[in-house]
This record gives sequence, C-alpha cells and structure tokens, in this order.
Amino acid sequence: MLRRTKIIATLGPATDDVSSIEKLIRAGIDLVRINFSHGTRADHQRRVNAVRECAAAQGREVGILGDLQGPKIRIAQFQYGCINLEPGQKFVLDTGPEEFEGTQESVGVDYKQLHEDVNPADLLLLDDGRIELQIDKVDDLRIICTVKTGGKLSNNKGINRKGGGLSAGALTKKDLEDLKTAAAMQVDYIAVSFVRNASDIRLTRKILQENNGTAGIIAKIERSEAIETIDEIIQASDAVMIARGDLGVEIGDAEVPAIQKQIIERARSLDKPVITATQMMESMIQSPVPTRAEVSDVANAVIEGTDAVMLSGETAIGRHPEKVVTAAERVCLAAERQPSTRISRHRMDRRFKRVDEAISMSAMYAANHLDIKAIVALTESGSTPLWMSRIRTAIPIFGLSRHAESLGKMTLYRNVYPLFFDVTHFQRDEIKREAIRVLECRGLLNTGDMAIITKGDQDGVYGMTNAMKIVEVGQVV
Ligand code: PGA
Ligand code: MN
Repeated sequence: MLRRTKIIATLGPATDDVSSIEKLIRAGIDLVRINFSHGTRADHQRRVNAVRECAAAQGREVGILGDLQGPKIRIAQFQYGCINLEPGQKFVLDTGPEEFEGTQESVGVDYKQLHEDVNPADLLLLDDGRIELQIDKVDDLRIICTVKTGGKLSNNKGINRKGGGLSAGALTKKDLEDLKTAAAMQVDYIAVSFVRNASDIRLTRKILQENNGTAGIIAKIERSEAIETIDEIIQASDAVMIARGDLGVEIGDAEVPAIQKQIIERARSLDKPVITATQMMESMIQSPVPTRAEVSDVANAVIEGTDAVMLSGETAIGRHPEKVVTAAERVCLAAERQPSTRISRHRMDRRFKRVDEAISMSAMYAANHLDIKAIVALTESGSTPLWMSRIRTAIPIFGLSRHAESLGKMTLYRNVYPLFFDVTHFQRDEIKREAIRVLECRGLLNTGDMAIITKGDQDGVYGMTNAMKIVEVGQVV
C-alpha cells in the first residue's frame, strides 16, 4: 500500500554516514532536512551528495530541505558550563557589549537589543520553557529578573518571551550565508525560522532569486505574531511548517493542538503544503518503540490532513533512526484508513481562476466518483498535482515530470508520487501510452485498470494543462 503522508527525516550525527542515509531512504523517507543550525558548509554538502547518490541508486525521488537557523535568541556561556537556579532568587540577563563568563548571578545574551524589546512583568522562557524568569526591571543593559521556575541552566540555551514580540529580523548574517550555500546546492526547499510576517518571506525570496536559487520557501510558524497574519504568510510562502517546539514556548503548549488544526486547514484551503514538526516521536531518541501519546499525535496530524510529518532529534541524534521511520510509516498507514481522510467536499462552492486548476479539480471529482486506480498528471512545474493533492482521496496521484526541480518539490505533497518522465522524448500520439507504461513497469497499474491522465495540448509547456482523459490500461490510444 502506498503511504500518502510524507516523512521528513532530519540528518545529524546519528545519520551522517552513507550507510545510514541509504537505510533511511530504504525505510521510506521522502525528504531529508539539513539543519543549518549545526555543522559546516562542507558537512552540508557531503550530506546532500550522499542523499542524491543513495536516492538515485534506489530509483527514488528524495527531496532536500535546508533549514535556516534564524534569530534564535540565546544566552551566552557560563564560567563552569552551567548553573543551578533556585525559585525566588534574582538573576540578571546582561546585553552589555563586552563578553563575560556567566555566574550564579548573571549571564550574557547574544541578541544585543533584548533589553529594548522587553518590559517589567514579562515572562522569559529559557531552554524550551524549562526555566521561567519574570522581569522585575530593566536597568539600562541589565534585565533584572526573579526566577519563577528554577533548574539547571547551561551554555547557549534559547530565550523566548511568553506572548512573543521580540523584534529580531528573520534573516541573520549567518542565514544570508547559508541561504547562498543552499541556493548553490540547489536544495528543493528552504525553511525560514522565526518568520514574523509575509515580508520576511518576500525578502527571502528576493535574495534567493538573486542567487539563482530555485527552492520553494517554507515559513516556520513558531512566533506568536505569525499566527495573527497566518493567511498572508501562507500566501507568500510555498509551504508552511508548524514548528511546535518554539511555538509551544511562545504561545503556551496547551494552545498548540488547536492552532495546528487551524494552520493545516488554512494551508490546504490556500493550496499550500504543510509540515507538522517537532517531538513527533521524541521518546524514540532513546526507546525502540513510541509511546501511545506519540502514536496518537502522528495519527491525528495525518487525520487533520498534514502533508508531512517531520522527525527531528529522533533521526538526527537518536538511537534508532530506521525504527522511527518504520514506526511513523506504520502509524501514517493506519491513520490513512480512517474514512474521513478519503472523502472530499470537492470545493463545490468555489470558483476557479485558472484552466489548469479547473482540470485538476475536475480530475479529482471524476476520480472520486468512478472506480479509478491512479491519476497520472503530466506536469512541468508540479502545480497540477499540488492542486489535486488538496482534495482528499485514497487514489494515488502520480506526478510525471522531466524537471529535477519539480520532482523534488512534489516529494512534499500529500499523496503525490513523483516519477521521472520526459514528454519531449516521445511523439505526441505516444505520450499517454508511454506514461501509463511507466506505471505498469513499476507494478502500479495493471491491464484493465482505469486511470485518469491530465496533460496540455502543448507538451512541455508550463501552466498549460487543459485536458483530462479517462483510459483503461491496455486500451490506451
Ligand atoms: P527548530 O524548529 O528545530 O529549528 O527549533 C522547530 C521547532 O521550533 O519546533
Ligand atoms: Mn524552532
């Protein structure tokens, strides 16, 4: 059975060598995430090369997502690596320009404007919310706090403000460098961390284009204020990621499940793919099996309609990278048997703006109301399969394209299976038969099966899909 939900695996120390990457791909991952927060340019290039070689060797399309670090605000370092904070004690965050080693009383901050962004009574959350500091007063560059929740605090831990609103721009100097590296590597997607608004995405797109990058841009939703203009952000992006780690710290963990549902709904409705990320199977960093709660979490994301589930530490630093992928696959497949994931309302009340969009929607309507085994979309950019994949169905959509760029983008779309096929190699009257043959050769279609083919009159031209044809395998003309 084909899995409709895509699985993204973050690469890291646990999955760095060619043989682990080879195993992850064999286990079924659809994309890898290269995390620019860790490692050098040479590390990233080595990983990208390994993924491309292993994917080609296995005849699979595996997308590459480069994730920019973004302006994660962090404390500096301590004299002895870490301290222990007691509830009720005073503690100072010091944005002073000179470097100093942190003590039991104070520590430096890498974001030098922090004192301008905060106010007395604000709650600062350190180390993903494990430590809570309430601000008493801001004395020039010194932010004087009382510890609300104490514990161990070690070097370089992240700082968030409850409620969000820290003003650091979404692209740091390091991100600009990494963006250029990612563009040169021709990654399929670039994820922008701590996006505040649609302008952050537009700026990223401009810089990417100046560097001849072709990647799709993913907005990571992890700031409170991003929720306020979520539709605009989705429209400016090529995809969104629900980055539940930082998001949970900013808006409160209890708010995340409902927001996740809303973002998935908005993204699908605005024709964009959506990734659900962070702590999906966190316990499997150590354990060989997921908890019931983790199984439910992955399954619920699938039932809500996410395009992809993302594994972070589970595959980057975990003890069982392959087992996590197998577990995620098992849970996705079971959740995809839920009837609500197959039944669409078909946008009966919407008007379409484009011919190719109307063909995509018509194909899905026909497929869901006939005994159809496969939808075969001959596509240049991948936009026809993207529209199709917004409609719920259990019928697989095969996106056949001759462009590496489009094949890579399609790896993210729910229920879309990218396959290489070059329309320009065939005579016009052979194309449909040859396309069906690609699926037959892989055992995906058999004689007598019904399939829907969509294509344009002008083969090999972008945005020109204007026809659908219902065919029987073996009888195709
Ligand atoms: P990160 O993003 O892993 O880059 O922090 C994901 C998240 O915040 O959930
Ligand atoms: Mn994050």
